[in-house]
Amino acid sequence: MEKIRILGIEIDKVSEKDALDRAVKFLEKGKKCVIYTPNSEIIMQCQSNKNLANALKQADLVIPDGIGLVLASRVIKKPLLERVTGIDLMESILNYANENNKSIFILGAQDGISQKCAQNILKKYPNIKVKGVHHGYFKGYHMGIENHPQEKKVIQLINSLKPDILFVAFGAPKQEIWIQRYKNEIDAKIFMGVGGSVDVYAG
Ligand code: UDP
Repeated sequence: MEKIRILGIEIDKVSEKDALDRAVKFLEKGKKCVIYTPNSEIIMQCQSNKNLANALKQADLVIPDGIGLVLASRVIKKPLLERVTGIDLMESILNYANENNKSIFILGAQDGISQKCAQNILKKYPNIKVKGVHHGYFKGYHMGIENHPQEKKVIQLINSLKPDILFVAFGAPKQEIWIQRYKNEIDAKIFMGVGGSVDVYAG
């Protein structure tokens, strides 16, 4: 699959359907697939945030959620196909999960919001198994402090439930760095940083 390099970060040249197909292939093979949906602001942040840049470089799918990236790709004469927003890709993944009885875990957003998001997802997609939800505010948590007790508990909870898909909504760049740090110890297949989309689903 072709990748377009913008400011040192490779972005996948995919349509929304290509992105879904790719994620589904990983899931069906039982392999982990990490998906991020940066906009140009995030690519700019990568210039000074090594952990963020590393997270994006290690991802399986990096989707351009921003017309700025599509325009930049045209300027360098290596055009991306289209803008694929994080929320649209999340919706396609949910639709796939509903049709294939897959399970999800929603991690992030304020306490209550992640639950509301799950309720609304279930109303629309009744065949999805929502295995669990957890808010994204760990007491006394600062990025860079590993093995925070609450964080460990959340990881244990996710591992006891083994969701097919883990949506992480801590906002960028926190969610990308968090997924990169913990993906190897979390028993899930698709890991997707979804930012404010959980708030949108919560209504
Ligand atoms: N959030 C969180 N923990 C944090 C910081 C943010 O769970 O420590 C949540 C916040 O409640 C919101 C989401 O992460 O649901 C961030 O959304 P935002 O719109 O800021 O992110 P973006 O989509 O712009 O990346």
